Amino acid sequence: SRVFNFCAGPAALPEAVLSKAQADLMDWQGRGLSIMEMSHRSDEIVSIANEAEASLRRLMSISDDYAVLFLQGGASQQFAAVPLNLAAGNQAADYVNTGQWSKKAISEAKRFADVSVVASSEDRNFTYVPAVNSWARRDNAAYVHICPNETIGGVAYSELPTGETPIVADMSSTILSQPINVNDYGVIYAGAQKNIGPAGLTVVIVRKDLLGKASEHCPTMLNWQVAAENDSMYNTPPTFAIYLAGLVFEWLEDLGGLGAMAEINQRKAGKLYDYIDGSGFYANPVALPNRSLMNVPFTLADAALDKAFLAGADAAGLLNLKGHRSVGGMRASIYNAVPEAGVDALIYYMRDFASNNG
Ligand code: PLP
Repeated sequence: SRVFNFCAGPAALPEAVLSKAQADLMDWQGRGLSIMEMSHRSDEIVSIANEAEASLRRLMSISDDYAVLFLQGGASQQFAAVPLNLAAGNQAADYVNTGQWSKKAISEAKRFADVSVVASSEDRNFTYVPAVNSWARRDNAAYVHICPNETIGGVAYSELPTGETPIVADMSSTILSQPINVNDYGVIYAGAQKNIGPAGLTVVIVRKDLLGKASEHCPTMLNWQVAAENDSMYNTPPTFAIYLAGLVFEWLEDLGGLGAMAEINQRKAGKLYDYIDGSGFYANPVALPNRSLMNVPFTLADAALDKAFLAGADAAGLLNLKGHRSVGGMRASIYNAVPEAGVDALIYYMRDFASNNG
């Protein structure tokens, strides 16, 4: 009876994970209490958090040179935490503007750092990523901030900047979708509610030599070093979200890890883009090398049909396809937990709709 959920976040979760959590919600391993009712200082929760971290480290091959933090406040809170931890004293910080989430990160960072927007794709409504060798970077920048996958525009990086300056990446909508080399980054952060688990958890992966540089004005709760020294338990962490994320990590490991997940994601996205491009009715505006595996925006031949498209999709059990208002049209977010059958059902519906309305 479950529908296919194409929401950009909070997004679909693996069905196997949800059914396991359902049992633990009422009675955790026969202990007579819910997973949500257990102290974060209990052996059980501490070992659940440790195992979640270990599993994430295995999945992403995260070395001991990096701290893994389980925080709250969403990726949006990290927009402030990044400059507060890395650019104390209004240091230079370089940002690339590739869409709505980059923009938000930039405007927040301007409160705390000497921000320079070193490249932007706003000239073409954020439909591409400016070539890395065209960025006007500064030698004295404490870091360069990128959003490797813009959730709203459906724009993804195909190359990374080089050099010694630490790369800080908002990976909210791409983390765990394919293997990456963590060592290429100084900091990776992500809100959980797409590929990690439920809303309420934020994962930060930070190279340990970047800890201890926070501004004296950095609030304790935003200070990564404090979080690292307290195993992410300086205060009460989002225990249920960490537990569920652990189950998602386990699900990914059972599936064969991020290499296996990437193959599935490429197949899912590939068939959707192929259909859109060949349809003569739907269109995706993003430059070919920058098309996202996770978020696929598309427009209909006539925007006057949008309402009917969405109503029919809803009736067919294909939910949350409305595009963001800044882009218009539709957006299918096809994160890890959206099964290939969901993409097949979407294409089937799109074909049917196009032939009835084209
Ligand atoms: N960054 C990106 C790329 C996002 O997609 C989102 C949310 O969709 C955010 C940041 C904001 O995340 P949060 O709601 O966790 O603050």
